[in-house]
Amino acid sequence: MEKTITQIQKDVDDWAQQFEKPYFSPLSMVATMTEECGEVARVMNHLYGDKKKKDGETMIDLEEELGDLLFTIICIANDQNISLAKAHERKLEKIYGRDNYRFNRK
Ligand SMILES: [Mg+2]
Repeated sequence: MEKTITQIQKDVDDWAQQFEKPYFSPLSMVATMTEECGEVARVMNHLYGDKKKKDGETMIDLEEELGDLLFTIICIANDQNISLAKAHERKLEKIYGRDNYRFNRK
C-alpha cells in the first residue's frame, strides 16, 4: 500500500531530525523550493516546449524533479507544523465549493 502524506511528512521529519539544524531557515527553504520548481520547468520545457535538447530529458527526470519539489514543500510544512493532509482537505473544500462551477464539465 502506498504511503499517506502524513506518513511521508513523518519520513522526512525522521530524516531531518538526525541533524543539529533539521531544516533550513524559512526563506532558504522557499528559495530551494523555487529552484526545484525551476528544475521541473526545465524538464517540462525540454519534453514539451520549444527549447528541445538533442539528448532530451525523460519522464524519469520529471519524476525525480517532482520528488525534489515535493520534498522541499514537505520540509516547509514540517518546519511550520502544517499538516499537508489538512491543507489538502482545505484545498478540496475550495475546489468543490468556491470553484465548483468555474470550469466546463464533460
Ligand atoms: Mg532537483
